[in-house]
Amino acid sequence: MHGLMSERPLLISAIIKHAAVYHRDTEIVSRTVEGGIHRYTYGVAERRAKRLARALLKLGIRPGDRVGTLAWNTFRHFELYYAISGIGAVCHTINPRLFNEQILYIVNHAEDRLLFVDTTFAPLIERLAPHLSPECRIIWMTEEGAEPATGLSLPGLPCHEALIRAEDEDFEWPGFDERTASSLCYTSGTTGNPKGVLYSHRSTVLHALGISLPDAISISASDAVCPVVPMFHVNAWAIPYAAPMQGAKLVLPGPRLDGQSLYRLFEAEQVTLALGVPTVWLSFEAHLSATGARCSTLHRILSGGSAVPPSMVEAFAGHGIDVRQGWGMTEMSPLGTTAALKAKHLGLDRDAQMKVKAKQGRPVFGVEMKVVDDAGQPQPYDGASMGELLVRGPWIVNGYFEDAEASAAAMDEDGWFRTGDVATIDPDGYMQIMDRRKDVIKSGGEWISSIDLENAAIAHPDVAEAAVIAVPHPRWAERPLLIVTPRADCRPQCDDLLKFLAEHFPRWMLPDDVVVLDQLPHTATGKVMKIRLREMFRSHPLPER
Ligand code: AMP
Repeated sequence: MHGLMSERPLLISAIIKHAAVYHRDTEIVSRTVEGGIHRYTYGVAERRAKRLARALLKLGIRPGDRVGTLAWNTFRHFELYYAISGIGAVCHTINPRLFNEQILYIVNHAEDRLLFVDTTFAPLIERLAPHLSPECRIIWMTEEGAEPATGLSLPGLPCHEALIRAEDEDFEWPGFDERTASSLCYTSGTTGNPKGVLYSHRSTVLHALGISLPDAISISASDAVCPVVPMFHVNAWAIPYAAPMQGAKLVLPGPRLDGQSLYRLFEAEQVTLALGVPTVWLSFEAHLSATGARCSTLHRILSGGSAVPPSMVEAFAGHGIDVRQGWGMTEMSPLGTTAALKAKHLGLDRDAQMKVKAKQGRPVFGVEMKVVDDAGQPQPYDGASMGELLVRGPWIVNGYFEDAEASAAAMDEDGWFRTGDVATIDPDGYMQIMDRRKDVIKSGGEWISSIDLENAAIAHPDVAEAAVIAVPHPRWAERPLLIVTPRADCRPQCDDLLKFLAEHFPRWMLPDDVVVLDQLPHTATGKVMKIRLREMFRSHPLPER
């Protein structure tokens, strides 16, 4: 017997409709690409998204067509999220930090019909244009008259504002199946071609609901939320959906993500919650420490994308800001877990609480997790048994876009997605990532967690960033090498660092050597590019220890 409840489809347009009615005058504030501050409300945003939707239909965009964006976090990008998905087309956000070849592969693989582009990316478009399909047309995300001068031979179209100006807002968001594809984001894998993750309306709405919960990201109508994480990286962790869904003020930082620019924006717009990768927060914290600046409203940061060092959590606690770690993947929309404490942890001392917060955390309802050994056998929730982490749930992929081979490799026969992360899960359900599978260090048959060593090294006062990689070794197969960058005016010393680490690790786990670099190579999503470091140091002579 079926229940007698309405089966209204879960559509992305319902989010902006809701915000436009019940949070009509709540603001979206953007630092624009041009440099100034732009502000309007959810009411105005929906009206402009409707005009844009009409313009897209007139340009021949049909359900299922892919429309690409190469854009920063601003109101125009926000409008595109809703206009494109709202008519049943697919909003394909492209990471401009990828290599040109990868971007071309992605645009051509997705068969983007239109590319909406911020003017800052004019040089990139000039480089790409000769290799793009003639079917793919460019729209500059700017005012009439502000389009960049380029030598492009591609057929030009009216700019973003001209498209909006030419339409009226007499438009009803169409209804369709909630399983319809809504947006597309390619993973920036370090090997092979990028793989497309195709989200649906249903997965997007359920994920936005899930991440808004108190023990997930916790978003309310009394918050001002700033996604520092770019809208081209897993939809800015879905904040452009969750903020209007909950009626939170949305503060979009545009292209300027340095400590001082962020601080000024947070203060001016009374931001209460901000989200981004640890690299961003390390430089933001350095700015606070160097200037003595106090954040008057920011009291929460959600950080993920790579491991959050406990020393960073401690440092922000000193500024009165609580850092919560989240873990997820492009394939998971992205949120899987957060390290929110349980009631039983509240009475613990700071060190014991920090041990919980340093883990990647427990799942948001909807996400199932298991850790399996090499034979695929599930491991106990004992906080010690390690293996590959598998996940499944309504906002987790069951295959990649137009890529049967990658899909088959990623999924097991019961629909679990192989994350490629090596993890443990403790009896309270907190998962801890030890390494990416390909970054694991196996020395004399024993695992050494590069993440543990990095978290410890970064707590040293001379160290700004740290990475640990495996270097081939004739006797032990692999040994760890620590690579660090110095904090301003510091000179980290090998022996000093090893002594510091020796307080936390047995001798056999300690790196055999330390290298100091001016900077570490990063991927397009802000992770340390270990594959590059392994190439650089493949033949690094390790001293006998
Ligand atoms: P991406 O799809 O680019 O978001 O990358 C996903 C991968 O980033 C995960 O599989 C993890 O290896 C890594 N990652 C994300 N969040 C964390 C975290 N909090 N701690 C450690 N690794 C993380």
